[in-house]
Amino acid sequence: MAAHNLSPAASVDVLEKQPVLGGCLSSYHMDQYTIERYYHHCFPTDAALFSLLEKLGIRDRLEWRSGTTGYYVHGSLYPLTTPREILAYPHLSLLDKVRLAILTLGARKKDIQTLDSITAEDFVVNRYGRNLYESFFEPLLASKFGEMRSTVSAAWLVSRIAIRSHRGVSGEHLGYLKGGFEQLIGALEQSCTAAGCTIHRNEPLTELRKNGEKWVVNGRPYDRVLSTIPPSEVERISGLTMPSIPYQGAACMTLGLEREVTEGIYWVNMKDPAPYGAVVAHTSFVPRDRYGESIIYLGSYFSGKPSAHLEERMLNDFSRRFGAAEADIHWHRLAVDRFAGPIYVAGYQSLIPEYEKNGLYMAGMFSRPNYPERSMEGSIRAGTEAATLLKNGLGS
Ligand SMILES: Cc1cc2nc3c(=O)[nH]c(=O)nc-3n(C[C@H](O)[C@H](O)[C@H](O)COP(=O)(O)OP(=O)(O)OC[C@H]3O[C@@H](n4cnc5c(N)ncnc54)[C@H](O)[C@@H]3O)c2cc1C
Repeated sequence: MAAHNLSPAASVDVLEKQPVLGGCLSSYHMDQYTIERYYHHCFPTDAALFSLLEKLGIRDRLEWRSGTTGYYVHGSLYPLTTPREILAYPHLSLLDKVRLAILTLGARKKDIQTLDSITAEDFVVNRYGRNLYESFFEPLLASKFGEMRSTVSAAWLVSRIAIRSHRGVSGEHLGYLKGGFEQLIGALEQSCTAAGCTIHRNEPLTELRKNGEKWVVNGRPYDRVLSTIPPSEVERISGLTMPSIPYQGAACMTLGLEREVTEGIYWVNMKDPAPYGAVVAHTSFVPRDRYGESIIYLGSYFSGKPSAHLEERMLNDFSRRFGAAEADIHWHRLAVDRFAGPIYVAGYQSLIPEYEKNGLYMAGMFSRPNYPERSMEGSIRAGTEAATLLKNGLGS
């Protein structure tokens, strides 16, 4: 995104350590279709994304669909989309359901700034009761942040609830790009290269240092550098002192299946312990006939390293729990990214770096527009804002 904004004005090189572009938004290229390595959808509030799609001439591919949700508890799958389904859910008392409704309805009006310094656990326990926290929110936080769950800020939780409250009775209004978000990555690549930008795939950043007025990057001199990788990685490679943003990794298995297994529900949160925290049934969201098979994601997050034998454990657990026989599974792949998102600990706002420090520009998942939840929208805005600042300083 930064390169897209800079290429017309400057001579730009992009360094990408992977053979493919897109980072967390990259896709698998199957014979008949492409599919994101990690489940993706967009939200009705993603204005910068929509205007980018417009500029790239692919806005007509944006489609709106309904995303239904459910909870997997004590071996059973409970749909939790409509008010009737929520009322029928047996693992929460009526009082807790009322409290949950109050929290959900009020989420969009809450002041995110003041919630940054409180943990989600304290916020829910103190205002809505321990039972609602333990029986509803803690398993969700655990599946997303694991052992770090009690450090996560109330700002993250509340904004997450707010962003996910654009819903009708049939589900949440979620957007998708016909043909996949690979269309966006491809169109961005095309527009960058057409504007003269050079993209170096398979080239990790290994050297970053100042030499007089210039920066030296992997042996080449540059006037300006804009980094989009985790600040801790920049520090490791360059020795420059960077803000310590805590990150978590994601491990996500994608499976091509003979049949649906989530009773038509798009997003199933696992309350029962499992090697994955959510089952995301892509083809309960986007029509199955586009793929000729069902597509399921098993999503998990980790701190440090993924747990041992994760692929095998995920596959075995999924097959047993959802009754998928060997013949039902056409293929499966595991994607692992150590830096899949910041952990939004209480007080996170004070860690967010400026776009420029000591002549180095930085924009990414850790930037302000990605607070308090990282997204395509946040990184589009961060890349654009940092590039604008860099462009303004080019004459100096
Ligand atoms: C499981 C999951 C689900 C998600 N779902 C959604 C969703 O539904 N909707 C949504 O809006 N967002 C979603 N996101 C977030 C979205 O994918 C990210 O916010 C967005 O892709 C961030 O983009 P980025 O470019 O800032 O960072 P990244 O995607 O992390 O890109 C960083 C790039 O830098 C490269 N790199 C790293 N180190 C080096 C190095 N040393 N040298 C050179 N290159 C390097 C990486 O390979 C990568 O290409 C999801 C993310 C995950 C992990």
